[in-house]
Amino acid sequence: MAEKIFPISQSQLEKIIQKYPTPFHIYDEKAIRLNMRRLFKAFSWAPSFREHYAVKAAPNPRLLQILAEEGAGADCSSLAELILSDKAGIHGEKIMLTSNDTPADEFQKAISLGAIINLDDITHIEYLEKNAGFPEVLSFRYNPGSLIEGNDIIGKPEEAKYGLTKKQLFEGYQICKDKGVKRFGLHTMVISNELNPNSFIATAELMFNLAVEIKEKLAINLEFVNLGGGVGIPYRPEETAIDLEYIGAGIHTAYDKIIRPAGLNLAIAMELGRAITGPYGYLVSTALHEKKTYKDYMGLDSCMANLMRPALYGAYHHITVVGKENAPLDHTYDITGSLCENNDKFAIDRQLPAIDIGDRIVIHDAGAHGHSMGFNYNGKLRSAELLWKENGDVELIRRAETLDDYFATLHYDGSVF
Ligand SMILES: *Cc1c(COP(=O)(O)O)cnc(C)c1O
Repeated sequence: MAEKIFPISQSQLEKIIQKYPTPFHIYDEKAIRLNMRRLFKAFSWAPSFREHYAVKAAPNPRLLQILAEEGAGADCSSLAELILSDKAGIHGEKIMLTSNDTPADEFQKAISLGAIINLDDITHIEYLEKNAGFPEVLSFRYNPGSLIEGNDIIGKPEEAKYGLTKKQLFEGYQICKDKGVKRFGLHTMVISNELNPNSFIATAELMFNLAVEIKEKLAINLEFVNLGGGVGIPYRPEETAIDLEYIGAGIHTAYDKIIRPAGLNLAIAMELGRAITGPYGYLVSTALHEKKTYKDYMGLDSCMANLMRPALYGAYHHITVVGKENAPLDHTYDITGSLCENNDKFAIDRQLPAIDIGDRIVIHDAGAHGHSMGFNYNGKLRSAELLWKENGDVELIRRAETLDDYFATLHYDGSVF
């Protein structure tokens, strides 16, 4: 069971709203820090454990800075994410570029930052060499195909656009070794929002065996294996959070069995995003309109532009009506936004307490792939991001967009209107 408790009191929240009107995203700094420490502790047995936080999950330099203070690096897949990481004080091999269909300027930026480059395809070797040159440390993304089942969000590996086949992987390392690259890593990410801890242990075993095979066949001693992201979070209260200690211990056993006898000094890396910040970010909105037709609708002052997951994946996000945490769940609502899109709903047929107009509505687990997926459809503006600090203060870490931001990119002749 995952308890869904909004950690900020009602009176504190009202004070925050006086200064920063809803909707906004708010992140719990202390909980994020403790979570990061927990991950490092679960892998403290490993010769060198690295977490490259997946920047796309919450691309805010202030959050990246907090994560970096706790020891994290960054996993980037765009030019903006590389620059964000650099600005947050994450440098050199703490940055890993795991991109696909990569344009030259991303490779060039990664080289200039001294980042690790993780190639998604064998043809990218030539493209990289021609457009940017080789990095100090090169990695390849492995796609194990039907060896692994995958899941709904990411799909089956053999249907996924990512990574190299095993044959290409061996060719790729050989080509790069012949071209003088000396330091290598290996990467995979085959699963997303997965709550079964054994899948991560199975993936680690597969990757460890591959690392040994690469040593035997190519005489390459990999420096790290990166197991990607994909650790899920319990969006539903009846789900159970992944036990990071269990994963750490399971991977430890596999490491001792496979890697130690092979004499490899292999670091373990991960690129968790969702599991690090997801549960510790909240979208706070206000109930704006109640509408009763064939169903009861409660319209908020936020919409799918602020949190897309329910509309995009039919994802469940838990909802708390502030001040009514203990009230009976005796009303059934569709909780909607204002887009001219019928799937702009945060919840469908959700049992909730009676909601009054003006009630504050908290949507849980919005701390990863939440604000970052925002968009401007219907001219809706992205909200502010706030940091709830350990001492109870609130810091604005991204202001809300304004109409001036929206119009800033448009070119038109004012006189025609
Ligand atoms: C999205 C992504 C991640 C992070 O996934 P989470 O589900 O947030 O852990 C890590 N690595 C790569 C390559 C990704 O595309």
